[in-house]
Amino acid sequence: MNRRTISKEKFIENVELHPMRQQEDTDIAIVGGGICGLATALALHRSEELRCLKRSVLIETLVQELPASISYFGCQVVTIKSDPLTAFPILHFRDGNSIKAKFVIGCDGANSVVSKFLGLKPAQYLSSCSILGFTNYPHGHGLESESIRMRRGSISVGRIPVDDKVVYWFVGRKWTPQDSDISKDPEMIRESALESTGNFPEEVVEMIRKCDIGSLILTRLKYHAPWDILFGRFTTGTVTVAGDAMHLWAPFLGQGASAAIEDAIVLARCLAQHLTRNKVQAPLQTYVKQRRMRLVKLSTQTYLTGMLLEPSSVIVHYLCLMLLMVFFHDMLGHTRYNCGPL
Ligand SMILES: Cc1cc2nc3c(=O)[nH]c(=O)nc-3n(C[C@H](O)[C@H](O)[C@H](O)COP(=O)(O)OP(=O)(O)OC[C@H]3O[C@@H](n4cnc5c(N)ncnc54)[C@H](O)[C@@H]3O)c2cc1C
Repeated sequence: MNRRTISKEKFIENVELHPMRQQEDTDIAIVGGGICGLATALALHRSEELRCLKRSVLIETLVQELPASISYFGCQVVTIKSDPLTAFPILHFRDGNSIKAKFVIGCDGANSVVSKFLGLKPAQYLSSCSILGFTNYPHGHGLESESIRMRRGSISVGRIPVDDKVVYWFVGRKWTPQDSDISKDPEMIRESALESTGNFPEEVVEMIRKCDIGSLILTRLKYHAPWDILFGRFTTGTVTVAGDAMHLWAPFLGQGASAAIEDAIVLARCLAQHLTRNKVQAPLQTYVKQRRMRLVKLSTQTYLTGMLLEPSSVIVHYLCLMLLMVFFHDMLGHTRYNCGPL
């Protein structure tokens, strides 16, 4: 991508290195160009909500909406240090260059450099993985527009139509050491999904067989425990995190990207409100305060749901079920949350 001019916010993405001047200054540096980084960059400029089912469409839409005033750097942040004089953060890049920023927002995903700087605990692995894919039915799939989930033993399958012709689906199963190799080869991913779903209805097997091979992903599931989110120190000085860098959970509720967009809206609102009063640290503390309990609730519901799918004793499963029924009896209550306007 090309670098755009004008520089109040800088937007840093982990792609090929790009020549830069040594130690430029900026007001806000956003590390990461996924859903959260793009939504944060956009929220700092706009006041609209965006929702979309297909990740690639959402990313493209966000990229198209970014104003030209946002500078873009295609380079990887390797470390963050505090300036000994001003205490403002300095981002160091893989090519040796650096940027000094008043604020750094880490939207750099599951292996976040910014969350390491904040001393947050790394995400833990679940024993399961997900295979995701899309299947295109040129003459229409004829399915109802609803999300369906099925389970046979330890294997789960879900599907939801994207439109009249395209269906998004996933297969959840136990992770095995061979999956590191399988995940690199789409044909092997399809074979593995077919092997796992042999005793599911024929239409499911057919959907996987006819999938768009280029869309297949096999990923091991990782999560931040609810107590890490409850006690995590999400801001130090003028550095904070958002999206998966702040809260990673398994996709059982399908809320990771939605929560990342909420982070972006709340963060932009807090920064806009407080910067006009020229306070530097307060906006990030307010942002963390406003987000924490929402994230704890989402991660707890996801954690308990995940525990039901993990191999464990009957007592643990029963306890998780009871907790879900008591605290999350409205299973879709989380979808009606309103994070407020920009
Ligand atoms: C199997 C699966 C299914 C899911 N299903 C759903 C769903 O149905 N609904 C939903 O809402 N969510 C879902 N999610 C979650 C969703 O995909 C994530 O929550 C979302 O993508 C997080 O966005 P993000 O921008 O925080 O992180 P990412 O999408 O990981 O983006 C991080 C960006 O930062 C960049 N980066 C990383 N390190 C650096 C660095 N050092 N320097 C510069 N750039 C860097 C990366 O290149 C990347 O572009 C699912 C996740 C999985 C794994």
